[in-house]
Amino acid sequence: MLYVQKYGGTSLADADRIRIAARRSAELARQGHGVVVVVSAQGDATDEMIEKAAQINKRRAIREMDAYLAAGEQMSAGLMAMAIGALGCPAVSLTGWQAGIHTDGNHGSARILQVDTTRIRRELGLGKIVVVAGFQGVDPEGDITTLGRGGSDTTAVALAAWLKADICQIFTDVDGVYDRDPRLFPDARRFRQIRYGTMMALVENGAQVLHDRSVELAREHGIRLEVLSAFTGEPGTIVGELESF
Ligand code: ADP
Ligand code: ASP
Ligand code: MG
Repeated sequence: MLYVQKYGGTSLADADRIRIAARRSAELARQGHGVVVVVSAQGDATDEMIEKAAQINKRRAIREMDAYLAAGEQMSAGLMAMAIGALGCPAVSLTGWQAGIHTDGNHGSARILQVDTTRIRRELGLGKIVVVAGFQGVDPEGDITTLGRGGSDTTAVALAAWLKADICQIFTDVDGVYDRDPRLFPDARRFRQIRYGTMMALVENGAQVLHDRSVELAREHGIRLEVLSAFTGEPGTIVGELESF
């Protein structure tokens, strides 16, 4: 099987958490599966970077913001590849553009137009776990773009679609999708499975658990998504069409 696994910022916030994720991916690879790992910037790194930039320049420097913010995900990718390597499992980190993620030129909320999977396939063929920096791509000018806040989910789904992966797992800091934000509403109810349309409605009502474009792309390409806890390893919520449940 080919897995795409995505880790959000909280799930990578420190060395121990990166190691937990690395162990999970390495275990799958040892079982003979192909594994692509998509990573977000660690913890609140993106928020902190945005604050820092605001101290330098109050004007909207969207091209430069993209060049700057993409670095948060690149750092995570390097760290994750090192963590996997330390477990004796070959791994390589790739930026969005090295991974062939081509977007339009809409800085700050670029859309993925196409993924050239040549490099990723080559690395998988060499038996490596491929770690891709989320949230970023390259536009027709060759400039770095970002996909909008929360966009690493969309990187993961796009890779799953273009690589024809068997499943796209979104590891996060809650154990699935609920009918309301479980942090604000302790009596929120968890879905075991949810249709794309219902998921989209939740996202449109502000549920940040998945990036809006990731749900659209998953529906367009029929990608089965699983939203689950990065910490427990328990099954989470499957997002898909009913016939695939
Ligand atoms: P990540 O950093 O892993 O991408 P996010 O912060 O983007 O994580 O998304 C996870 C958060 O989404 C949870 O911590 C939770 O508070 C929030 N959330 C909002 N609405 C929902 C919902 N309906 N179901 C699950 N989580 C939700
Ligand atoms: N690091 C980016 C953000 O905080 C992208 C992501 O986490 O998906 O919005
Ligand atoms: Mg998110």
